[in-house]
Amino acid sequence: MAKIYVLRIGHRPERDKRITTHVGLVARAFGAHGFVLGDIYDDKVITSLRKVLKTWGGNMVLEQGVDSRKYVINWKRRGGLVVHLTMYGIIVDEVIDEIRDSSKDILVIVGAEKVPPFYYEEADYNVAIGNQPHSEVAALAIFLDRYYKGRELYLTFPNAKIVIEPSPRGKKVKKFAEAEERDY
Ligand code: SAM
Repeated sequence: MAKIYVLRIGHRPERDKRITTHVGLVARAFGAHGFVLGDIYDDKVITSLRKVLKTWGGNMVLEQGVDSRKYVINWKRRGGLVVHLTMYGIIVDEVIDEIRDSSKDILVIVGAEKVPPFYYEEADYNVAIGNQPHSEVAALAIFLDRYYKGRELYLTFPNAKIVIEPSPRGKKVKKFAEAEERDY
């Protein structure tokens, strides 16, 4: 199965801690295999995501401080596809089948502030989740949902300490071990 990694670029620790953490949470919950924080270290983000993995399960790879441009170049060198999510791109519906059918590993890039031209030029696909400005969290969720055709909503995660039992009212959970304190 093709692997999907999410590369978050332009993260500003003082402004983006929460939203970048949410990008990572969506990456995990919607089926990505890796979350990469480019060009900067932010242990608060990575620690939050690690705690979620420990409590709710999953093996998503976490990386930080990588050189984003080199990461993109190396991803392509190794035969992977690079998808940059941007409101200026081609509407997702027009390219998602082609991207999925390639069966290649995919690096999904999401920005924060203004994204440098390099990423538009190096991306195999500049993909728009509609041509209106909104949010990297929403854009990533919808991209992954279209890629997996909704099946990601039924994912279960290995090593989970808590598993939710869906219920029409209230909260039902199964606990498999002492759960970590939640801080997100
Ligand atoms: N002004 C920025 C730029 O030049 O691209 C956009 C900032 S936006 C708050 C942050 C990120 O959300 C973007 O880099 C993009 O990854 C994502 N995003 C926002 N709206 C989008 C859309 N309609 N389609 C795809 N991605 C979107």
